Parts: sequence; C-alpha cells; structure tokens
Amino acid sequence: MRRVSIFGATGSIGQNTIDLIARAPQDYEVIALTGASNIAQLAMDAKNLRARVAITAHDHLLGDLRDALAGTDVEAAAGVTAITEAAARSADWTMSAIVGAAGLAPGLTTLQQGGTLALANKESLVCAGKLMLETAKAHEARLLPVDSEHSAVFQALVGEDMAAVERVIITASGGAFRDWPLEDLGKATLDEASSHPNWDMGQRITIDSASMFNKAMELIETREYFGVRPDQIEVLIHPESMIHAMVGFADGALMAHVGPPDMRHAIGYALHWPERRKLPVERLDLAKIAQLSFRAPCDTRWPALRLARDVMETGGLAGAVFNAAKETALDGFIGGRIGFTDMAEVVEEVLTIVTSTPGHIDATMTLDNVAKVDHVARQEAARVILNRAG
Ligand code: NAD
Ligand code: MG
Repeated sequence: MRRVSIFGATGSIGQNTIDLIARAPQDYEVIALTGASNIAQLAMDAKNLRARVAITAHDHLLGDLRDALAGTDVEAAAGVTAITEAAARSADWTMSAIVGAAGLAPGLTTLQQGGTLALANKESLVCAGKLMLETAKAHEARLLPVDSEHSAVFQALVGEDMAAVERVIITASGGAFRDWPLEDLGKATLDEASSHPNWDMGQRITIDSASMFNKAMELIETREYFGVRPDQIEVLIHPESMIHAMVGFADGALMAHVGPPDMRHAIGYALHWPERRKLPVERLDLAKIAQLSFRAPCDTRWPALRLARDVMETGGLAGAVFNAAKETALDGFIGGRIGFTDMAEVVEEVLTIVTSTPGHIDATMTLDNVAKVDHVARQEAARVILNRAG
C-alpha cells in the first residue's frame, strides 16, 4: 500500500486526485487531507478514504471539522502550522494542490522528508524554484509536474538528452477573452472572466487563464523545472487545448503531447510514474475533431507574458514579487476594487517599485526571505490598488 497525502484536497485538482485514488482504495493508505472552508467536503472525503488526519487552514473552523468527524477515527486539526506539520508526516506520494503561495511551505516540508511531491501548485516554482529544486536534491526527493503543459513536456522528454532540446512550446487556450475586441477587455466582469472555454478549474486559475497570468507563471515554471533558457520557451495559442506542449529537438523534430483537457491525465501520470496505467479519461477521436488550430500570442492583449519575461531576466526573488502582486491584484478584481486590465498594470507597477528598492529581490532565496518579499509586494499592491480607486 502506498501512503499518500493531498494538500488542497477540496479543490479542483484535489478532487480529481481523490477520484483516481477512490477507484483503487486497496492500493492507498491516506495520511493527510487538507482544505480550507469547505468542511463538509473535507470531512466526507476523510471519512470515505479513512484518512489519518484532516486539516482545515482556518483555525476558527476546527470545531466544525471536529463535529463533522465525530464518531470516526479521523483526527481533526486546523491552522497553517498544522498543515505544514502534516507535510512532515511521512508519505510516499504527496499532491501539492493548495492554490497560491500558501502551497510553498508545505511543499518544501514534504520535499525535506524525501518522498515524491506531485506539484500542481505552480506558485511554489514561481516564488522559489531554486529553493524547491535544491531541497529536492538535498533530500533525494522526487518532484513530478502536474500542470498539464509541464507533464506533457516531461513525457515528451522521456529517454531524451536535454542537450538536444532546442525549444519548448507550451500551449494556451487563450482563455475567456481570446476573441474579444481589445477595447472591451477593460469592462470584462468577474462572471465573464470566471468561465473557461475548455477546462473546469478553480476560480483563481480560470481568471488567470483569461488574463494569461496563468501562462505567464507557466513560462517561469518551465524555466525552473526543465532548466531551459527563457529564449527557448514559446507560448502558442491553441484554442482546442488538445496539444498541451511540444518539445523541439536539434534535428528539427517536434514531440507533441496530445490528450483531452482532463487533469486526471497529468495527475494519473504523476501518481503511477514511471509506469503508465489505465486512466478514466476520454479517448480522442481525431477524425471527428478534424482540425487543430494555432496562432501567436498577442502581447497587447496579454501583457502578463511580457511581465513574466521581465521577471525571468531580473531573477532573484522577482518571481515571488510577481506572484504576490498578482495574487493581490486578483483579489482586487474578484472584490470589485479594480477592473480586469488593471491587474497587469498593478503587477507591473509593483514589480518596478520592489525590484528597484535595494535589499528585496537580491536577498538569498530562503523561505523566510521569500515570505518577507511576498509581504512587501502584497503591501505595495494594496497601496497601488487603493490609489487607483481613490
Ligand atoms: P481550487 O481553488 O479549486 O482549490 C484550492 C485548494 O486549496 C482548496 O482545497 C482550498 O481549500 C485550498 N486553499 C485555498 N487557500 C488556502 C490557504 N490559504 N491555505 C491552505 N489551503 C488553501 O484550485 P485548483 O484549481 O485545484 O488549483 C490548485 C493548484 O493547482 C493551483 O496552484 C493551480 O494553479 C494549480 N493547477 C490547477 C489546475 C486545474 O485544472 N484546476 C491545472 C494546473 C495547475
Ligand atoms: Mg497549465
């Protein structure tokens, strides 16, 4: 039996992971499941999977969680520290699917135990890629990509020599506003930004797909994960979301990964790696699909892509600033304090301010320094947002 833990179990990735595990309960011993406000879901999954511990991120919900788990053997816990402590309980395979920078500390703690970390939380690599990879190496832990594009690249690289890799192409559906007239983007509403043409995901990543901040983070994630130079990474708009990524080699060959837009594929690949096992995903009928289309991304429509390239060039802790400013700007948009196109402007302004202030982004990459610069960037972003509103 493999011991597994799922961080962010109640979210979109977490629920897809549980779907796969619940199909073969005899193969898994579930150690920890974590969530935030959806106590009913967390408690139900913890009971069904006979988890040892269920943890909510919110201290004030501990009573509710205890009540929901009354009469079972599942331990209840709450708070940020309890989540990180759960990551120190030994597991063979851990899913990192908390959304945002909150996923970094539990992910690092998991790597320190030397097991396998299946990483959906791309923010960890954007904020502290070097630290994540060094920690994995120091503790002989394994990091496996779960983001569909990065899983696709990882699969295209099996048996290949990195020295022969010329370029990596990650695809993007283009999100909700791919075909909107540019002048309408400023008026896009929360509802309009929260529906994705192809993927069913959490609200934050769905909005990030419309603004292309998701792809911007994935550019950085590609650089960190595969060690390729920024100029070797391309973004390609591919509205059908069937090809997730391509790797181009020295001989001109492109290896493309094709599959349905279903995250259970990338999750299942990381769960069973290095084996391939049967997965309950749709089998594509390409004759029926008939056509796949591609186009170049437009920097005017999606300034986030340019910002990600600036961040890669700046280096240091610029990724942590970028992510924190983006998370705050996204909160501002969700809360109705700023408009859709303001998000990229806020992030750009914060990047300029924080990267030009000495001592922030050139600090050593430790969890503490990442947390400090994250805090500074969130404060700056809140100030920039307030100024705009005023
Ligand atoms: P989601 O919003 O559906 O779920 C987020 C999970 O994190 C929930 O379990 C929630 O309870 C928990 N959470 C939220 N805030 C928390 C906090 N402060 N502390 C602890 N836990 C907290 O998100 P999702 O779509 O499942 O995405 C999860 C991660 O996976 C993100 O990093 C996202 O970018 C990445 N990802 C998602 C998809 C997808 O298809 N949904 C694809 C690729 C990558
Ligand atoms: Mg992705």
